[in-house]
Amino acid sequence: MAERFTGSFTQQEPIPEEAIAAAVEVMRHGRLHRYNVAGGEAGEAALLERDFAALTGARYCLAVASGGYAMGCALRALGVGPGDAVLTNAFTLAPVPGAIASLGARPVFVGVTEDLTIDLADLEAKLGEARVLLLSHMRGHVCDMDRLMALCDAAGVAVIEDCAHTMGARWRGVPSGRHGAIGCYSCQTYKHVNAGEGGLIVTDDADLAARMVLLSGSYMLYERHLAGPPAEAYADLRYEVPNVSGRMDNLRAAILRPQLALLEDRRQRWSERYAALEEGLRDVPGLTLVPRPAEEEFVGSSFQFLLLGWRADRIADVVGRCAARGVELKWFGPEEPSGFTSRYGAWRYAPSEPMPRTDRVLAGLLDLRVPLTFSVEDCALIARIVRQEVASF
Ligand SMILES: *Cc1c(COP(=O)(O)O)cnc(C)c1O
Repeated sequence: MAERFTGSFTQQEPIPEEAIAAAVEVMRHGRLHRYNVAGGEAGEAALLERDFAALTGARYCLAVASGGYAMGCALRALGVGPGDAVLTNAFTLAPVPGAIASLGARPVFVGVTEDLTIDLADLEAKLGEARVLLLSHMRGHVCDMDRLMALCDAAGVAVIEDCAHTMGARWRGVPSGRHGAIGCYSCQTYKHVNAGEGGLIVTDDADLAARMVLLSGSYMLYERHLAGPPAEAYADLRYEVPNVSGRMDNLRAAILRPQLALLEDRRQRWSERYAALEEGLRDVPGLTLVPRPAEEEFVGSSFQFLLLGWRADRIADVVGRCAARGVELKWFGPEEPSGFTSRYGAWRYAPSEPMPRTDRVLAGLLDLRVPLTFSVEDCALIARIVRQEVASF
C-alpha cells in the first residue's frame, strides 16, 4: 500500500516552559504596556531589544507589533513617502509590497533566479529607479550579499532586509539583517520564534533608530529603551516624527526572550530536516533542487524545489496526488492567490510588467513548510511521497 503522511504542516512546537513562566509573571503583575514599568524594572520589551541587539551584533534594536509594521517603519524612517518608488523582490510574500503600499509608495519588482534569490542583473538595471531596496530573503534564500551591497552602495540605494525567513541565518558569518542599513524580522507563529505576532528591527544608525522608536509610539519615554540611541539622537526628531503606534508589549516580549537562546539549536534541527528532504529528492528526473552556496548558513524552515517547464495541469496533478497522501505542497504557479501564496501579478495596487524569466521560475515552484514538530524520519517519508508522485510522470 502507498505510504501516507499524517503530520500537520501548520503545527509548530509549543511555547517553551520558561517562556510560559515569564509570560505568566507579566500577567500576574499586570504591567503589559512596555513603558509601564515599576521603579528599577527594565520591562520585558526593553530586555528583548537588548538581547536581540547582542545576538545580532547590532547597536540598536526596536521591538514592534509585526514584521509588516517593522518594514513600514523602516521605510518611513528612510524618508520613503507617497509616490516614491521602492525596489523589492517579485518573489516574496504579500506583507512586503503591502508595507510599501502602506506609505503610498510604489513597489518596483525585481526578478527572481532559479536559485530563488533576487536577480542581481535585473536589480542592477533598475537601481536608478529608486533610493531604497526592500530586500526580501524569501523562504530563507540569501543572495550574494557582498555583490548586492556593492551594487547598492555604488548606486546610493539604501537596503532594508526583510529577514522574516532568515532570523538566525548568516552570510559569510554575518547575521542576516546586518548587511543593509536596517534589518526587519517577524516573530509571527510561522517564523523562527513564535509570539503569535511581533517584529524586531535592528540598525547601527542612531538617527534611523531614533526615528523608528518615535514612529513606533514612544510617548517621549524613549529613555527607557536599553538598546536605543542616546538621548541626543532625539533632540530635534521628537518634534518632527509622528507617532504611528506599533509597539510590542511586555507579554509578547516575555514569550520571545527565552526563544532567542534556542535559535541556533533550532537552526541545526531545521538543517537536519532540510538535509533529509534534499537527500530524498536528489536525482529525480524533471525535478530541480535549489543549490545552497557555501557562504550561506541558512535556516531550513521551509523547502522548495522546481518542476521547470512542466505543463500546469501536470503540476496540479502532482500537487493533488501529494495532498491525497498527506503532503501539502504550495505552488506559486496559479494566477489566483490562495492561502499564504500569491504572485506579483496578483497585487493589483502595484502594477507591474510581466517578467518572463521570473514567471518561468514561479510557474514551476513548489514549496513545503517544515515545522519542527516533523521528525527527520517524517521528512524522509515526505520526500519519498513527493519523489514517487513526481517520478510517476
Ligand atoms: C511573514 C513575512 C513577513 C512579515 O509578516 P508579519 O506577518 O507582518 O509578521 C515579511 N516578509 C515575509 C517574506 C514573510 O513571510
